Amino acid sequence: MIIRNAKFYLGGRVVKKDILIEKGKIAGFGKFKGEAMDAEGLFALPGLIDPHVHLRDPGMTHKEDFETGTRAALAGGCTTVLDMPNTRPPCTSLSEYRKKKEIAKRKALCDYGLHFGASGSNIQGVKKARPRSLKLYMGESTGRMHAGNMLTLWRHFSNFPKNRPLIVHAEDQETLAAMKKEGRGRPEAAEKIGVEKARILAQEADRVIYFAHTTLFETVHLAKIWKKSLIEVSPHHLFLSREKDGKRLKEFSKVYPPLRSEGERRELWGALYHVDAVGSDHAPHTPAEKRKGAAGFPGLETSLSLFLDAYNRGEVELPWIIDRMAESPARIFGLKSKGRIDKGYDGDITLVDLKEEWKVKADEFASKCGWTPYEGFRLKGKVKKVVLRGKLAADESGVTGKTKGKNVL
Ligand SMILES: [Zn+2]
Repeated sequence: MIIRNAKFYLGGRVVKKDILIEKGKIAGFGKFKGEAMDAEGLFALPGLIDPHVHLRDPGMTHKEDFETGTRAALAGGCTTVLDMPNTRPPCTSLSEYRKKKEIAKRKALCDYGLHFGASGSNIQGVKKARPRSLKLYMGESTGRMHAGNMLTLWRHFSNFPKNRPLIVHAEDQETLAAMKKEGRGRPEAAEKIGVEKARILAQEADRVIYFAHTTLFETVHLAKIWKKSLIEVSPHHLFLSREKDGKRLKEFSKVYPPLRSEGERRELWGALYHVDAVGSDHAPHTPAEKRKGAAGFPGLETSLSLFLDAYNRGEVELPWIIDRMAESPARIFGLKSKGRIDKGYDGDITLVDLKEEWKVKADEFASKCGWTPYEGFRLKGKVKKVVLRGKLAADESGVTGKTKGKNVL
């Protein structure tokens, strides 16, 4: 495949060249003869890697499944997704891990990896499965798989291989339970105490720790006291706030960790430099379930465009977007052939029109859940074509359905 006249970053500066992809790999840059995909006027990003999605398969496939979820990923410019283990049954044993791999292999349209889950009782199970990454919930969240007591936390922290990412949802269980009794919901304190506990345990165990969906300037800095801490942020904590969007979204505004105040949202932008990765935390529920209090937002089809829109307003630079949404997740999760437009890397390319404006409409989305917290938003910056290992995966008429995902973890 030849991608003709694309603009992209090569060696730190913007160039305009053809990109040649052979046998699924980027083979060269320059001028090439032959049939080509026209990318005139478009900017090429490395295919994005979303390290934090919930595709709900198995067990909750009325919300999403590996096919619709990877369709949503491709529509949003992601060519690789890493799926969380709080499915039903949870992915906390070798046998469930194997079953889920089979499902993903059969249905996925983009590349994928599966995070393994830490439970209160599976220290040996983790050792047996030897996963590349481990997700640990310190407090209760969707899926009820928290490993909240100190002994279990410590055992996971000290037993899981130290250079592999231990992904932590850092809301402290004891704090959540106490505050619930006091009728105070899920306050910032649960995240602050969670991050402190986890950071100290990580230091004690001398291990890498990856903080999922960090929401506060303060917790980013608390986490970074430890040099092996990695920070993820999710778009909704940067683009939505309790005051601004809570009223508009009503019961649909529920998400864990919750939307923060407008002041805290703005402060979080001030911590972007210390952030290592963006994870959409795509967590679809049906509208009926949202009305009954389910927590979580879909995010795969809006994540990139929200940041491109912010780029157009001068709030973030393109190299930051490329690094935190592709190159850095690839490095953190050991995806050696992903995350860069360079010779020898996988031919995963997301072509965007940086200037095109579009209106967010959930009924045009590929996700099964049928709603979005960004309904009606006008965003500047749109995904136009997506290439997965040299094959057209999505264009203006939608996801082709002709690509097949492979396991990368
Ligand atoms: Zn999540």
